[in-house]
Amino acid sequence: MNIILFGPPGSGKGTQAKKLVDKYGWVHISTGDLFRYEMGNDTPLGLKAKSYIEKGELVPDEVTVGMLKNKVNSSEGAKGFIFDGFPRTVAQAEALDAFLDEKGTQVDALIALDVEEEEIVQRILERGKTSGRPDDNDESIIRNRIAVYHDETQPVYKHYAKKDISKKVNGLGGIEHIFGRLCATINRG
Ligand code: AMP
Repeated sequence: MNIILFGPPGSGKGTQAKKLVDKYGWVHISTGDLFRYEMGNDTPLGLKAKSYIEKGELVPDEVTVGMLKNKVNSSEGAKGFIFDGFPRTVAQAEALDAFLDEKGTQVDALIALDVEEEEIVQRILERGKTSGRPDDNDESIIRNRIAVYHDETQPVYKHYAKKDISKKVNGLGGIEHIFGRLCATINRG
């Protein structure tokens, strides 16, 4: 089972992905976490990504897709993946579909956490107090990330809706409530 956990920044994807991994045993791949790891180690990839992340822009597709493929390829024997923060453009979605197809597998579902914009901004500012992420601390960068989400990432929902595998889950409420809704959606298939 390969699932895309979808939704705007601050919608709870990372929190819920960790809980889904504990329950279903999938491998969690967060491109944001991978970039932060590279930046923390001052690698060439990290330095390249930094200039985009600092502004709340997307890292170019070829860089992101290459990193994602390496991570999948190094997770041999995984019984499924949960993609968090990827794909963020239709080009990334098409690259993912082709890549999984070569491996004889596919995206089984895209599940979008539905949270309205003002709630998201407040959540990210709150997270910024402890996350140590510069892109969580500046409201104009946060608003840019949300604008990028609307312009470039939202179309990914439609890309998978055409394949009839996009679903929405209410992302408001307590962590356990939201997790229950996600599991119910996954178990319905
Ligand atoms: P996240 O932790 O998912 O909020 O990602 C933090 C930042 O990393 C984003 O604002 C982007 O700058 C960058 N990033 C993460 N995933 C992607 C992706 N799939 N495509 C392009 N940029 C990404």
